[in-house]
Amino acid sequence: MKKDIFDEIVEHLRELQTQDKTTFIAPEVVNEFFTDTQAASAPVQNQAPATAGFSAEPVDPAIASMTLEELNSTAQKCQKCPLCTNRKNVVFGEGSPNADLMFIGEGPGYDEDQQGRPFVGKAGELLTKMITAMQFTREQVYIANIVKCRPPKNRNPLPEEAAACLPYLQRQIELIQPKVIVILGAVPLKYLLNKTGITRLRGQWDSYNGIKVMPTFHPAYLLRDPKAKGVTWSDLQQVMKLFGKVHKN
Ligand code: URA
Ligand code: SF4
Repeated sequence: MKKDIFDEIVEHLRELQTQDKTTFIAPEVVNEFFTDTQAASAPVQNQAPATAGFSAEPVDPAIASMTLEELNSTAQKCQKCPLCTNRKNVVFGEGSPNADLMFIGEGPGYDEDQQGRPFVGKAGELLTKMITAMQFTREQVYIANIVKCRPPKNRNPLPEEAAACLPYLQRQIELIQPKVIVILGAVPLKYLLNKTGITRLRGQWDSYNGIKVMPTFHPAYLLRDPKAKGVTWSDLQQVMKLFGKVHKN
């Protein structure tokens, strides 16, 4: 397979590491930055939920007090939307419960439904390379989707499906408390931030309940339009800068 920008970066990183040359900013600098942004974005807490306008099912009040494990076992039995009928597996999400960095996609595809794990197909392979290029591992981050069951023929989730499923994701975010959320494409942009126009909004910091959000292109889109990998990498580099992971091309 032809090498892409992420292969190049991953290879380059390996080389730098063997030469002991990877550069990190002092942790104090990073912490100072996050303290600032938390304070600046505090009022966002009172914003109307992004699902306002959709006919959300009444949120199970129990969800608000569940642990990650309880949330997972509840989701495994969930029948709150019609996507439950054709699923093989509920794809809850995976990664570190203490992750500083979280990725949010659309919903499971064929491979994800088969395996019960997010981003394990072709797009997932590319996402894994993107994460590695950012000097994180899949185990260090957390990966989830707007809906936890596969939409038929991989169509986008409908507003009522997203609204039914969102309380799980909202509680996951609340429990994990990542420092940064990377939104992958138009679907999570719409349902998490209530915004449209990924091409216009990618690369611009946004926020969700006081958490910094970076919208960028979805890896499945990058597979169809590899030219967009360059700007996606620049979006991801903005996230790396926040974490003090400086990368020189
Ligand atoms: N695409 C997504 O949006 N999510 C997955 O988990 C896999 C592919
Ligand atoms: Fe429940 Fe979400 Fe699956 Fe719908 S997509 S059945 S809300 S877990």
